[in-house]
Amino acid sequence: MTKYLCSIHSHYDHTIIEADSPRDAAENYVDSGSWPDSSATQFFLICVGYADDTNEKLWRWQIAIKKHPPEPPCTAGHEHDWRTPSFANGVEVCKWCANYMISEEATDWETGQSYISYYYDSPDEDSLSWANLFIDQSD
Ligand SMILES: [Zn+2]
Repeated sequence: MTKYLCSIHSHYDHTIIEADSPRDAAENYVDSGSWPDSSATQFFLICVGYADDTNEKLWRWQIAIKKHPPEPPCTAGHEHDWRTPSFANGVEVCKWCANYMISEEATDWETGQSYISYYYDSPDEDSLSWANLFIDQSD
């Protein structure tokens, strides 16, 4: 394990994180941080340096980390099984709970980097009647 400095911005205070790699450190930093809640994927560009360099704080890496929103719970006893039924126009729908998972290309406004953003939408009549087909089969 190596000690890394991590920060959301090169001018902000850093946090020291022990990790196996700069990417692991950046991921741990994002996972352990408190960020505003978001229902869609969040994009972070984390500055990472060696903690041993603290006399002169050197940012050696900029690592893009995406934090996806929490999945809605699935039907009891099931894990999400995302499918792309024809009625949903390329949007994924879970065959058990009928929730929608929508993915979109997004661009980080600060860095201009593109990434895929996910968010979830509740079941509606269309997705529920499609999902019902599977429930009938499993009984
Ligand atoms: Zn599900």
